Amino acid sequence: MKVYKFGGASIKNAEAVNNMIRIVESHRPEQLVVVVSAMGKTTNALEELYHLAFARRQFEKPFNELKSYHHTIASGLIKDDKHQIFEVINQLFNELHKDLNNRPPALAKAAFYDNIVAYGERLSSKIIHARMNENNLNAKWVNARDFIITDFNFREAKINWDQTEKNINGAIKPLLKDYILLTQGFIGGTPDGEYTTLGREGSDFTAAIIASCLKAKSVTIWKDVPGILNADPKIIRKAKKFENLNYHEAAEMTYYGASVIHPKTIKPLANLNIPLLVKSFERPEENGTAINALDTVQSVPSIIFKPNQSLVTFKVKDFTFINENNLSIIFHLLDQLNIKINMMQNSAISFSICVDNQVEKVSELIASLKNDFEVQNHTGLSLTTVKNYDLETIKKVSEGKEILLEQKTKHTYQIVVEDQHWKYMI
Ligand code: ASP
Ligand code: MG
Repeated sequence: MKVYKFGGASIKNAEAVNNMIRIVESHRPEQLVVVVSAMGKTTNALEELYHLAFARRQFEKPFNELKSYHHTIASGLIKDDKHQIFEVINQLFNELHKDLNNRPPALAKAAFYDNIVAYGERLSSKIIHARMNENNLNAKWVNARDFIITDFNFREAKINWDQTEKNINGAIKPLLKDYILLTQGFIGGTPDGEYTTLGREGSDFTAAIIASCLKAKSVTIWKDVPGILNADPKIIRKAKKFENLNYHEAAEMTYYGASVIHPKTIKPLANLNIPLLVKSFERPEENGTAINALDTVQSVPSIIFKPNQSLVTFKVKDFTFINENNLSIIFHLLDQLNIKINMMQNSAISFSICVDNQVEKVSELIASLKNDFEVQNHTGLSLTTVKNYDLETIKKVSEGKEILLEQKTKHTYQIVVEDQHWKYMI
């Protein structure tokens, strides 16, 4: 059996959904689990609704826009306006409306977020399921919340692998011989049935979880790019596609911020040696990129941009130096706040970290440490990482820029620069 994952761009309108269904159709009679994200930019729209509702502000306008967006797609897919899908969509939006009005106390904020954003995948999977069955695809809709079991760490829930594996092998596996299974990416459920989410863009991870529990032959992620490229084609015009990457290389690229696949996707697949294929949904007949355990030698450097970075610098206040004790105070807090360091450097009297500019977390970090250190925060930055660098590429990404932090190891070159410097790279 195989697992296919379709992201938001591949199902952003009726035409895209029809194309996605053609891809699924052409792969019969292979046993298949299809994982879908929310349609287009729905998750962003739901995040906005969540913020408005939480702040007790008006949300009717964006709410109605989102509702009519889904109705338009459904009407483009299903001609019979008495089809029950329209009732299903209305019901889901009624529920969403009710939930938005039930703003919780601050403590339950993350659980509230997960419940709201999960509507995106719930809607898309219902609409696509209806269309698949119009095409006689014999698809069965299954609720990820009931078999992907997580802890209560809302917004970034951790998988309970034992329970999830039991559920998938118990309830899901037997269905595969009769049905194409269709489920939602990104969402899971607590043991008592509350919705959780696995972190933004987490649908790839869902596909990997299911594939690993079912020991799938492969996972295919269908994207709007021809495969994994050595740079973002919006920034470097002559980006080249990799035919093959090994699990290590792919994991490293996601670590540095390549956004083609979710970072957590690789590990469960690599453990079982399940190939991950990244292919274009616009040109499904082309090869894309295969990620597997094969040894590969890459001849081109990979250039990875990570925007919206913060450079936080801690300086000791007296004439003591940055020592292990100071560092342990900082690291302890980073761990508690779940802040990932993208790059770091220390000197005698200061220590700098480049992190994603998650405003709430970074502010908390600074507030907690400002008694111990003099803290500076420089925002609006971007981090550029070049793997397998050569001098020409270093020159291309750094020339003429004011560099705030720079590091070079044997295979990796990184710089932190002002965000607006990006445009000069093209
Ligand atoms: N819909 C979710 C998001 O946009 C999950 C995903 O697309 O993978 O973050
Ligand atoms: Mg998405």
